[in-house]
Amino acid sequence: MDVNLMVVATKARAFGFIKHIGSTSKVFAVSHFTGVSSALAALKGQGAPDVIVLVLTRGVLKTAEIPDLLSVAAANIPPIPVVLVGAESLRAKAKVAIQQGAHIYLSDEDSDPHVLVQALQDVWTGSEGYRVRDSALSRARITLDSISDGVIGTDGAGKVEYINPAAEKLTGWPKELAQGKPVSDVMKVKLDGAFGDIPHPVELALSKRAPTGLSAGAVLLRRNGGAIDIEDSTAPMIDEKGAVTGAVIVFHDVSMERAMKAKMTYLAEHDQLTHLPNRLLFRDRAAQSLRSAVRNHSNVAIIFLDLDNFKGINDSFGHSLGDKLLVSVAARLSGCVREEDTVSRQGGDEFLVLLAGLKSREAAEKVAKKIISSCSEPHFIDDQEIHITISMGVGFSPQEHVDIDSLIAQADTAMYRTKQNGRNGYTFFSNEIGAQAQERQRIEEGLRQCIDLDEVRLVYQPKIDLSSGAVVGVEALMRWTNHVLGEVAPNSFIPVAEATRLVVALGRWAIKEACTQIGQWRSLGLGEIKIAVNVSALELEDDAYADYVFTVLSDCKLDPGLLQLEVTETVFIKDFSKCLMRLEVLKKAGVSLALDDFGTGYSSFSYLTSMPFDFLKIDRSFVHDIELDGGKVAVVGAMLSMAKSLGLTVIAEGIETSAEAEFFINGGCDQAQGFFFSKPLEAMDMPCFLSQQRLTTG
Ligand code: C2E
Ligand code: CA
Ligand code: CA
Repeated sequence: MDVNLMVVATKARAFGFIKHIGSTSKVFAVSHFTGVSSALAALKGQGAPDVIVLVLTRGVLKTAEIPDLLSVAAANIPPIPVVLVGAESLRAKAKVAIQQGAHIYLSDEDSDPHVLVQALQDVWTGSEGYRVRDSALSRARITLDSISDGVIGTDGAGKVEYINPAAEKLTGWPKELAQGKPVSDVMKVKLDGAFGDIPHPVELALSKRAPTGLSAGAVLLRRNGGAIDIEDSTAPMIDEKGAVTGAVIVFHDVSMERAMKAKMTYLAEHDQLTHLPNRLLFRDRAAQSLRSAVRNHSNVAIIFLDLDNFKGINDSFGHSLGDKLLVSVAARLSGCVREEDTVSRQGGDEFLVLLAGLKSREAAEKVAKKIISSCSEPHFIDDQEIHITISMGVGFSPQEHVDIDSLIAQADTAMYRTKQNGRNGYTFFSNEIGAQAQERQRIEEGLRQCIDLDEVRLVYQPKIDLSSGAVVGVEALMRWTNHVLGEVAPNSFIPVAEATRLVVALGRWAIKEACTQIGQWRSLGLGEIKIAVNVSALELEDDAYADYVFTVLSDCKLDPGLLQLEVTETVFIKDFSKCLMRLEVLKKAGVSLALDDFGTGYSSFSYLTSMPFDFLKIDRSFVHDIELDGGKVAVVGAMLSMAKSLGLTVIAEGIETSAEAEFFINGGCDQAQGFFFSKPLEAMDMPCFLSQQRLTTG
């Protein structure tokens, strides 16, 4: 250990003294002062030396400041020993100084410099300053030995000089083996997952002469071959002359933190139920695939996938089975794609599949087909065999400048088209589909305010009794003239209204409007005209639906028998028993019920037997050109006789020709509707139509 010597000596003596001790191997740091007064000034101003050596001559002995020097040295904390060195002949003269506090008198006449140096060393190690410095060091040593961070000190060549117990444990190298070894052997580092070397931080610190650290994700290879995640900081040690004398690396185990962080990242990027990548990660990967597709002139496809009637499965089998079904579907999907593709759950029963690096549209089509057949295999869940179908839309990338969001939107739009086309299949996005989706978007926006803007009205199509030719009532049909789009056909806006549930508000409006109209016609002296109003399945989901109808009827002072509700079979898909209950409440009150569009849906006769219907409307598709189609004749014949046996009144819809009218008259059909008798009429045209009608039939 270096000892800082303050040597006070005349120039002549100093040279000899310093040369004298310099010839030994002990390390002293020497600061030299030629006079006692300059030494005293330095002592007051700068840091304290470990030992003061006062080289005596007769002249020096006469210096008045010697007592001052001695008292300042004694007052220092810890006290600085002052050693007097001089000729043997001066020993007696120096006694005064010893009495004033000087430590010892050493003769410099001994020819062996080691004796003097050893004596100086003894003074130093016997002094309080030594003890203070030693205890500071041992405290540092104890600290280093007890902290949990690994600490390794090296020499300037990167060889291990010191290794604390934590570092021994982390590296697996005991101190005895580590000391003297290159630090890169004792502490092998690499980047997580990366093979090959990274520069060792100690070597970097030594060569760059600046603090360094390992990059994030660094791993320490232990002596036993294991690996742990670490973080480090490394600093070079540079002495006062600017020479690099070694380095210290401090490092600790961050496996826990890194594992925690990895887990958090995983959670943030994956769906908890299926463990598939979520929307976030999907977008990331999709954007990446799209970029590399542009580079490699390949294509990317995104499949938007939605389970058909998942809500129904959830409702009838329970949510826990629904969840397991989603997991099962996730597994099937993952089984249909390659490693470089991504299957993701977007939430609910919606999935996105990213197909990367595609050569052609056909390749995407192949995967879509594979997915359909894989998902339609039965799913065995909780001892149940579940069958599902799925609807998909495909966005394909060759369009220029397409971004991820538009590609997803295209897939979504195309999926919607699949749903419209009866589900269970896939549709590729096309410009035509896009244009229609935009149109739909405009319709949806317009519909939101169509009632407030007073843009909707009802028109009324007469229903004719086929045996008498008399008008037995009218069907109310909605018309919408939007201020931008103009007249929009019900077949365009009703499906949008259904999809957005806006049909519920529209339906309520229609009931009220129709009932008000009956009241107005009555006040015009046209008598009580029966009105049939079309009701969407969604309206019947509302518990308060029947009450609403009753309120409107009583507000308009109408007999419930004047109102007929037309529903299609779709009302029974959702919640059969609830719908049945609501319809029965209405029927009990006297409202009559018609099953609309019969023959186009499930057309299950068994429904009919258990349903409270009074009327059956045969769909227009069976009526059109019936006299030319034997198949239709047979079906319609069966419908008529079945309806008769159930006591239902049958109405034929969409009769356009006298041949069609004749067929139904002869077949014993009760009522008819169609352009042949009358197109739907504006409310104000009704009086005129009815009076003409009376003239012709009367
Ligand atoms: P729908 O209930 O089957 O109504 C009969 C449709 O056939 C009406 O079309 C009517 O104008 C049309 N039609 C009547 N006679 C003939 C004919 O001889 N030939 C042809 N080709 N067509 C004929 P519209 O008014 O366009 O309504 C279409 C569908 O929109 C309706 O079919 C109904 O499902 C729905 N809809 C109309 N108004 C409402 C409403 O107020 N509420 C609900 N929920 N749906 C409505
Ligand atoms: Ca109808
Ligand atoms: Ca119909």
